[in-house]
Amino acid sequence: MDDIPPCKRQREQEIEKNERPRRNRVPVLRKSHSLHDLVPLIAASSSMPMVIVDAEAMMIMSLHSHLCSDEVIGWMAGIIDPNCIHIQKAFPVKALAHENGRINVEMDVENALTVRTEIEEIGLKIVGWYHSHPTFEVTPSLMDIDNQINYQNISTEYFLGGIISPYMSTHKLEGLFTIFHVKKNQEEHKRNGYHPAYSIKFNVKSSEISQKCVDFAVALVNDYKGHKKFVLPSKKWKKGLTIIQKISKALEYFGLTTEQISQIYNVLI
Ligand SMILES: [Zn+2]
Repeated sequence: MDDIPPCKRQREQEIEKNERPRRNRVPVLRKSHSLHDLVPLIAASSSMPMVIVDAEAMMIMSLHSHLCSDEVIGWMAGIIDPNCIHIQKAFPVKALAHENGRINVEMDVENALTVRTEIEEIGLKIVGWYHSHPTFEVTPSLMDIDNQINYQNISTEYFLGGIISPYMSTHKLEGLFTIFHVKKNQEEHKRNGYHPAYSIKFNVKSSEISQKCVDFAVALVNDYKGHKKFVLPSKKWKKGLTIIQKISKALEYFGLTTEQISQIYNVLI
């Protein structure tokens, strides 16, 4: 694999793009494509129903992504009606182990199926997948676009892709989050080498975080404590914060009470 971090690669592409003559833009880009390249998202598609994400689902995705310096992955579950895609819960899935900390995370197939059954048992359906870009932009890589197309192909209803970047922004301590969808377009594919991805507008529905959700979060932290890439909670991050302080701020953002935060804090240390 290519060892250049994707954010650096994208910056280099930006520089290249700006410096090279316009007429060369397409051929040079096409030659340089690798599955790890990030592609810009196109502004929200109007053909999509409204998307609502419950605070509990956002909180679990945020916490999950904060726990691991490698990419993490999971399902987004909820309900779909003609006017709304409602993401109610997030379900982490075990990632396949990769050597060299490579990017482009994949689900462990067996665990993905087990978790799918748990989702169906509580009367929800899978409405998308999410994964993290630990320290880089929340735009999909070419591999993410391929994966998204595959999911969309096997789905009879809408299927969304979520990307969360926990450690890139020093302003949004809960992490950056985007939802995207791919529209197959052969013309665009011929021109750019990939099908275009659209960012989807969404609203986060704030509500009290239930104790059941906090218990789920505590179990998730316990699961990750044995992970090879578990973050070091006492390590300095940025803005004078340690990782554990940063995670606490993220939890505060989602409306957890002091008592709920300390339950999670106590298993993190
Ligand atoms: Zn990705």
